[in-house]
Amino acid sequence: MFSARLKRLRPYVPGEQPQDKTYLKLNTNESPYPPSPKIKAMMADFDLGQLRRYCDPEAEALRTQIAETYSITKAEVFVGNGSDEVLAFCFYAFFDSAKGKLCFPEFTYSFYPVYCDLFDIAYQKVPLNDDFSVDVDALLAQRPSCGIIFANPNAPTGICISLKQIGRLLKNYPDDRIVVVDEAYIDFGGESALALVPDFPNLVVVRTLSKSMSLAGLRLGFVMAQKPLIDALSAVKNSFNSYPVDTLAQNIARVAIADETYWRDMCQKVIATRDSFATRLTENGWEVLPSATNFVFARKPGFSGKDIYLTLKEKGILVRYFDTEGIKDYVRITIGTPAEMDRLLDQISTCF
Ligand SMILES: *Cc1c(COP(=O)(O)O)cnc(C)c1O
Repeated sequence: MFSARLKRLRPYVPGEQPQDKTYLKLNTNESPYPPSPKIKAMMADFDLGQLRRYCDPEAEALRTQIAETYSITKAEVFVGNGSDEVLAFCFYAFFDSAKGKLCFPEFTYSFYPVYCDLFDIAYQKVPLNDDFSVDVDALLAQRPSCGIIFANPNAPTGICISLKQIGRLLKNYPDDRIVVVDEAYIDFGGESALALVPDFPNLVVVRTLSKSMSLAGLRLGFVMAQKPLIDALSAVKNSFNSYPVDTLAQNIARVAIADETYWRDMCQKVIATRDSFATRLTENGWEVLPSATNFVFARKPGFSGKDIYLTLKEKGILVRYFDTEGIKDYVRITIGTPAEMDRLLDQISTCF
């Protein structure tokens, strides 16, 4: 009844999304703040009659806005239905086991191995440094590799590596092999690899509106890279679904990205809350990895990640833990509003 390839799938398990709203949700790195208020004004004037037509398959107006915001050209921008989709297209277009294994850090976004299975790409997990940072030399040492992918700042650790390190990686890596830098959290800290796109024909920078722009439910992700790579992604898209980003999403995303002052302000609020939360966790005897993201990765000696997760869940607070050797003791806690973090700290100081 089923295809042989179906058997190979090991689907990604997303964080819980309980629909009853009784939980304080700090488990999937969503923003605690609403998206740009300018979206509402645009929606009020939106002519629903437009939905009679197919959306613009090339999302020209949205890509023009992205190009303007990030000072690149429209030909260097690709948009998709969330960065998860954009990443899937990257895996399909750029990675091919015939040229070696795909390399990524041992602890990083757990969707990467899922796409490898989906597209039959062999991969090699490469250990992190002792301080949990991405080990550039270890990634380079794997030869031959058909490409490299990592998140910067990384997830679930929250740690970022410097632009200098990424530059060093690219300078020492063959320029006919692609390096994907997944910058889902870059607006919360760290330097973007975007500055290197003009110099490296093999660099792909992936972004999402889900975290820093408070639009996880909209599903909009994008790539910035040199034109031949963008053209390759378009070829994949047009072999799968010509219209992955609907008219409403194109319009909302365009308005949201253009309101840069607003979303940068929201990120600053999250950053301030993160830093004071991390300090208070440390004061409570927790070990907290340095975070450049909208979450912290932390542990309390004497407790497992699962213990912490289950205890907090009972108290109506959802965090995330990973049942993976090496990071079992940790929980990943999304940064909410200051009041939400106070509520969590109250529980933490009594329970652990
Ligand atoms: C959240 C996240 C994504 C997925 O973002 P969507 O645009 O919502 O699909 C991709 N990569 C990393 C590292 C993430 O944490």
